[in-house]
Amino acid sequence: MSGVKILTDIEQPKRAVRPAIIKGIKCKCPNCGEGAMFGKWLKVTPECSVCGEELHHEEAQDFPPYITITIVGHIIVTLLMVVEARTDWSLATHLLVWIPMATVLTLALMQPVKGGVVGMQWAVRMFGFGGEKEA
Ligand SMILES: [Zn+2]
Repeated sequence: MSGVKILTDIEQPKRAVRPAIIKGIKCKCPNCGEGAMFGKWLKVTPECSVCGEELHHEEAQDFPPYITITIVGHIIVTLLMVVEARTDWSLATHLLVWIPMATVLTLALMQPVKGGVVGMQWAVRMFGFGGEKEA
């Protein structure tokens, strides 16, 4: 081999995954935990306003919605089955309770779940978080 040294992720310092995910769930920068992760709603800010960490490398795509649907589905279906077994609610009552609850839960979870996914991607150096050039 020549004297050229290639930077690989093996040579990069390890990042703790769990704290990065927790910081992301709090919608904070996975690096410093201070700066806001999101600019608008689900739009990740290009870089942290506090530490300058580049966050635009995220590619969360459909993963946060899958996680959100799974969590909300488990909560709603469990509650619905318990209520159905113990009460005699009409179909209209069920619709008036479960549809708004599912909507509110989904909206409440979307940002923290995406934050957690971006935090995980940052910690394991996925996509551009590993320092390699983007295509
Ligand atoms: Zn930061």
